[in-house]
Amino acid sequence: MKITSNFDSGNIEFVSIDVKKNAFKLKIRKDTNSDFLQWFHFRLTGAADRRCKLAIINAGKTTYPIGWKNYQACASYDREEWFRVPTTFRNGILTIDFKPSHNSVYFAYFAPYSYERHLDMIHEAQLSPDVSMEVIGKTFLGRDIEMLQIGKPRKNKKVIWVIARQHPGESMAEWFIEGMLSRLLDEDDPVSRRLLKEAVFYVVPNMNIDGSIAGNLRSSASGANLNREWQKPTKKYSPEVYFVRNKMDETGMNLILDVHGDEGLPYNFIAASEGIPGYDEYLATMETRFIGHWMETSPDFQDTHKYPLDHFGEANMTLCTNAMAHRFGCLALTIEMPFKDNADLPDKEYGWSDKRSRLLGASVLNPVLHVIKDLR
Ligand SMILES: [Zn+2]
Repeated sequence: MKITSNFDSGNIEFVSIDVKKNAFKLKIRKDTNSDFLQWFHFRLTGAADRRCKLAIINAGKTTYPIGWKNYQACASYDREEWFRVPTTFRNGILTIDFKPSHNSVYFAYFAPYSYERHLDMIHEAQLSPDVSMEVIGKTFLGRDIEMLQIGKPRKNKKVIWVIARQHPGESMAEWFIEGMLSRLLDEDDPVSRRLLKEAVFYVVPNMNIDGSIAGNLRSSASGANLNREWQKPTKKYSPEVYFVRNKMDETGMNLILDVHGDEGLPYNFIAASEGIPGYDEYLATMETRFIGHWMETSPDFQDTHKYPLDHFGEANMTLCTNAMAHRFGCLALTIEMPFKDNADLPDKEYGWSDKRSRLLGASVLNPVLHVIKDLR
């Protein structure tokens, strides 16, 4: 029996094995140049029909230990279908107790979204007559940062930005983008047709490519938490934000959606910009309308369980949505999906999943259409 993780977005360290008991001790390694840790993704081979105990012994020392409460790990035999496996968290140790029925099985914190799939998505999208793909800069390690422009810019059209995966371990964010894009590029979808008449979209499906490949939870390869870099991004430390923000300055914006995953809460929810200086009646009304319409059109979305609201003037202005709401005076929303499940509509077998993230991504176009005419 062997454990490996030296592949795209792999993360685990082998500590020891008790061969008689099929019991492994493992450790999650820290993000590149930073102390964050939580994402794991590894492969177990040679264990078909043997009941194994995989104990992640430093789970209690991860960034969000609350994330392991009522959490079930994801596993896959074919790297397409990710199902949940029995998992417990006791005394700081996360233990997966599982008898694989095949000789190779992958485990991950959430269904991984690979770099190859990322490139496939970008290239499939660019075949659409509505799309133009642009490399707008390079990551810390020199990889291309891709942006998709959807629809032709025209005077009086609204400008809508959607970015995802500033935090690379939040792979559900890129599944969300995949679902949103496939609907937006569906020429038969009436919502998408109307949206592309009214707006041009700029989409960055993966803000943190280096961190995704490295198997990080929150950091880029330089060690930056990109969602704390929006006030003063630098070409040297946070080029991913630097280049994207420059592009935003070029295009302007009337709406931005920044897509994330949350370790603790088993719900989909939105965090808005109520704490920024200059927050006004317009932003409050638009947030309420957007959230209300999304709840009406997708039972997977809710507004009861969410982050505590910021007090006026006390927002963290280094966050993307706060910084952009302030910079452009526009509606700016952080979308959070769970790693665990949606407790309002639980699914024992799969929990919150890649598929459900895609569907939620497609559904977000409804509230966008609902508010589009009034975006300032
Ligand atoms: Zn995040």
